[in-house]
Amino acid sequence: MEKILVLTHVDESGSALGKASLEAVAAAVELSKALGAELAIGVVGLEASGAAVQLSGAASTVLAVTGEAFAQPRYATDAAACEALVKAAAATVVLAPATSRFARVMPGVAHRAGGVVDTHITALGNTLEATRWFYRQRVEAVIKRASRPWFLLLEAGTHTAWSAVGNAPAIEAVAVAIPESRTTVSGIRAPKQDEQTIRPDAKLLFVAGAGWTKKQQDGQVHAAEAEPLILGFLRAADASLGSSKSLVDQSGENQPVLKFMTHLNQIGQTGATPRHAKGLSTCCHGEEPHVVGWRFVNERRAINLDANCGWARGKADVLYVADAFKVMAKVNELLAKK
Ligand SMILES: Cc1cc2nc3c(=O)[nH]c(=O)nc-3n(C[C@H](O)[C@H](O)[C@H](O)COP(=O)(O)OP(=O)(O)OC[C@H]3O[C@@H](n4cnc5c(N)ncnc54)[C@H](O)[C@@H]3O)c2cc1C
Repeated sequence: MEKILVLTHVDESGSALGKASLEAVAAAVELSKALGAELAIGVVGLEASGAAVQLSGAASTVLAVTGEAFAQPRYATDAAACEALVKAAAATVVLAPATSRFARVMPGVAHRAGGVVDTHITALGNTLEATRWFYRQRVEAVIKRASRPWFLLLEAGTHTAWSAVGNAPAIEAVAVAIPESRTTVSGIRAPKQDEQTIRPDAKLLFVAGAGWTKKQQDGQVHAAEAEPLILGFLRAADASLGSSKSLVDQSGENQPVLKFMTHLNQIGQTGATPRHAKGLSTCCHGEEPHVVGWRFVNERRAINLDANCGWARGKADVLYVADAFKVMAKVNELLAKK
């Protein structure tokens, strides 16, 4: 019989599990029921009592590696913690969220455990099969493996997060000899939350295209007005910002640019393929190399002056043939009243 271990880690708050960890827990609960397999949960972090409350009803065995050394992401300590948890649970299948913290250690942990690892997993089949996409989300593969332990890194946003039911489980502490480490974490320097424009957990993807920086009907460029309109909307709607390739490429061509936009925002064939419930495209033509990046955006709307743009050809659910400058100014005004 398979023994499933789901590895989780606490977030920056030091005590709570993040959404990606709770999604992995829900996926593991479902899989363990389908396979009739034993399920254990492993927690890594400063302390695990807050995590245990969130894990109520998921599994009776919760193992934890805790302490100051495990508060911060660091390869040596995270790998040692995960290795100890895998051994303690005698796991044959290990599920973990593909957070930046775990994605970088899990191949190493799989190697230490003599196992194999697959990454970018989007779904798990009831007969222990894992699904992932290849070649920029064009080819979907279903993988089965005989080797054990089998480590699977689950993509965030592919499962519903576990929500607690009943009482918090007891925690079994797993002792780990703290490995020698040359890395000390002195703090985190990150942009303020509202300056972060890429928000994978946002319900809405807002895409800005090159039209925002092109000459408008008055023959003038209005990039300076575009910036507050776009940033104002992102803040009010808590949306994530995407871009077309043409817009992010302009910075290298000495053309008018939106200062907050980088190549990381690019959506499409040579950009990202994020997962959001809804998407709103503005001043973007909706050409195929861009729209393939919308594969996982369920409800799509676009604002374009051109009634014949790519979005009109079955790529958007709703196309507003309108001036995005005017529409977004009105939308921001309405949001401000809320
Ligand atoms: C190999 C390859 C890979 C590529 N990969 C990608 C990729 O990953 N991602 C990507 O995005 N592109 C990619 N492209 C480029 C892609 O084909 C398009 O060139 C690009 O998406 C166009 O960007 P855009 O729609 O913002 O700009 P444009 O084509 O210039 O369109 C601007 C649009 O803005 C509209 N507009 C202007 N003013 C307003 C206004 N006031 N209100 C409303 N609408 C307005 C115009 O009507 C126009 O439709 C790739 C191309 C190739 C060949």
